Parts: sequence; C-alpha cells; structure tokens
Amino acid sequence: MNEMTNDVLQSTQVVIEQALRRLGFGDEMIELLKEPMRLLTVRIPVRMDDGTTRVFTGYRSQHNDAVGPTKGGVRFHPDVTEKEVKALSIWMSLKCGIADLPYGGGKGGIVCDPRKMSFRELERLSRGYVRAISQLVGPSKDIPAPDVMTNSQIMAWMMDEYSRIREFDSPGFITGKPIVLGGSKGRETATARGVVIMIHEALRLKQIEIKGARIVIQGFGNAGSYLAKFMHEAGALVIGISDVNGALYNEEGLDIPHLLDRRDSFGNVTNLFPNTIGNDQLLELDCDVLVPAAIENQITEVNADRIRASIIVEAANGPTTLEATRMITDRGLLLIPDVLASAGGVIVSYFEWVQNNQGYYWDEDEVDHKLRQMMIRGFENVYDIHLTRKVDMRLAAYMAGVRKMAEAVRFRGWV
Ligand code: GLU
Repeated sequence: MNEMTNDVLQSTQVVIEQALRRLGFGDEMIELLKEPMRLLTVRIPVRMDDGTTRVFTGYRSQHNDAVGPTKGGVRFHPDVTEKEVKALSIWMSLKCGIADLPYGGGKGGIVCDPRKMSFRELERLSRGYVRAISQLVGPSKDIPAPDVMTNSQIMAWMMDEYSRIREFDSPGFITGKPIVLGGSKGRETATARGVVIMIHEALRLKQIEIKGARIVIQGFGNAGSYLAKFMHEAGALVIGISDVNGALYNEEGLDIPHLLDRRDSFGNVTNLFPNTIGNDQLLELDCDVLVPAAIENQITEVNADRIRASIIVEAANGPTTLEATRMITDRGLLLIPDVLASAGGVIVSYFEWVQNNQGYYWDEDEVDHKLRQMMIRGFENVYDIHLTRKVDMRLAAYMAGVRKMAEAVRFRGWV
C-alpha cells in the first residue's frame, strides 16, 4: 500500500489545514488542531482462559476539548495503530462539529482480534482497558462508545468497571449501552438511520427514486447490516454486500432478511453462501449508490476510476483516500463524506448522554425525529459550503466540522 496517500492521519491533516485556511485561520490554529492534544498508550495484561497472561496494547486519543468533553468510540481490531486512533479522534471532532454537538473528538482502540477471544476474555480485556484509562475519561471529560467490533455488551462491562472505580453509578461515562443500563432507544440503529437520511438527500439531488434504486454495501457490521435492512424495507434493491470473507451479488436484489438472519455477531455471513464475486469487484459494480461501511482506504487511486456508482455515501470512517476523492469528484460523482454521513451514531450517543444526565428517557420517535433534524441540518450546511465556496464535499464537510472548534479555541485564548 502506498504509505503517502493512504496514511489516514496525514491525509486528515492535509484537509484540516486546507479547511482552516479557507476559514481564515492561520498557522498557529493549524499547528494546534492538526494533532490530538492528548494521547494515552496503555498495556493491558489479561488472564486468558487457558491460564496464561497476554498483554494487549490500547490507546485513547483526545483531539481537542475547547468545545466540550471529547467523545468517540473504542475499536477492537488487530490492525489498530496509534496513527489510526489519532486520525479517528480528529474525525470525531469533525462529526461533532457538523452535527453541532457540544463535544470535541476522541477515539480509543485496542490491538486485538475479538473473533478469536472468548466472552470472558473479552470482558477481562474491556475492564482492564477502563482501569488503564480511568483517570483520563468520565462523563464530563471524555465519553467512549462502540466502534468496529465493539458492542453494547462491551459498553456494559466498561460502564460497570468505571462505576466500581468511581464508587457511584455512572451511566453517562459511556454511550451505546444496553437499554436496561441507560442506553438510548434508537442508538443501535442510529448510524444506519443517519446514512439512510443521507442516501435520500443524495438520491433527491440526482433525481433517482428510492424504489428500485440499486445499492451496494461493503461491510455487514452494525452500520452495513442495518442499512441493508432499511434500504430493503424502503423498496431499494440491495444488489451487493460483503464482509471480510467475501461478497455476494444478485442483480435482482439479494434476500436481505435471510442474510440478516444468518449473520453472526461480527457481521460474517458470506462464508455461508457461494460467493458470486470478489470483494474488489463489489466496489466496481454498476449501481446507483455505493456505501463503503467497513474500514479505511477501500476506494483508492487504483480503483477510483472503475467505480460505476453515481453516488458514494461513506458509512465507514475514512474509506476513500484523498487522491481517490479528487478522482471521483472530477468525474462528477456525488460524495457524501464520512464525517457527515456516519454522524448518526454519535448524534444518538449525544442523546443518550443527555438522557443519562437528566435521568429522563425519550421514546424512539423523539430520537428519530431529532436525529433526522440534525442530519438534514448538517447536510444542508455542508452542501451549501460546497456550492458557495466551490470546494469538494470532503473539504466542505471539514470546513463545517472544524469551524466551531477553532472559534472556541480562539475565544478561550489558546491561540
Ligand atoms: N464509533 C462511532 C463513530 O465513529 C460512534 C461514536 C460515538 O457514538 O461516540 O462515529
């Protein structure tokens, strides 16, 4: 892989700098905001089921807390790196900025493969991570949440561990919890719901009907699987899906309810069926909407010219490289960038935190209604910047996302 173009932190810094310059901020602001203000690396010893001890490496990155506490998920993945977690925390700042949430961005990660760990090993790892980072996090400091291969059970263990350390119940320490432990209605499906709202906006601009629209989704985890479900229910044809093992394709539309039924908790499903195409071909299918909903660097300068979708909606974080962004923008494809398209998760996380702070819980309609309002407002703002400032959608999203943070930094007198 090309280190220069696919280095997610470096690419993010390039666009952060462009965005701040366009907004009229100078070198000092760029110097401050291009890196997280705080990064903690921890080593977590975990007693494995066979009696041996394994030491895992984990990170927590806090981009900037001028706007408010930092916020963002924790990912469990063998490829987690310090650089990736740093970039992800900057992206969280942008999401929170676009949605106008009172947060800066944070992100955590542990280098591990949860698919190869038992339930109890995962519990010990989750609790160990919280013990290791407990000084740096808290309901008004830095609020974790689910991300790649973490879920509400893991949030429950983390919340329980934090509550024991603090010696009082602390539901607002983490979001994405099970509903019985103070989770919000609608949080589980929130990222996908937000992506659906963005797909509707994009289709409207391109004057394509949702009924019969051909959708391709890369990744069948939390975002990808619920998105497939909602698209199918809306009458769209989900013609291709994939997971880490392979991809499935049917030009008439896949049997999504059946696939959802057979999927395991990590989103694996293609191994149960004869694969009709490879993962690379999936991205190049002729379709209306392509949704990368897996991991970083999937659309690159190698395949960007072969993408045949007219709309790309990024449900994953960082799926398209900078060079590929330029290539698809030049070809006139409509791109709804990650920091806008995938903001639904953190928006409903914010609702969860508000509900925890108030001790008063909302019904699902209220959550959905407010989520919709915030996603549409975010979209209109980004699209307006794209048109009026004549910048591509990614730069427009960065400009919308970083503005409030830079202003908060200035008012606080840090720069
Ligand atoms: N991990 C999700 C994201 O990347 C959600 C973060 C949150 O809810 O705080 O946006």
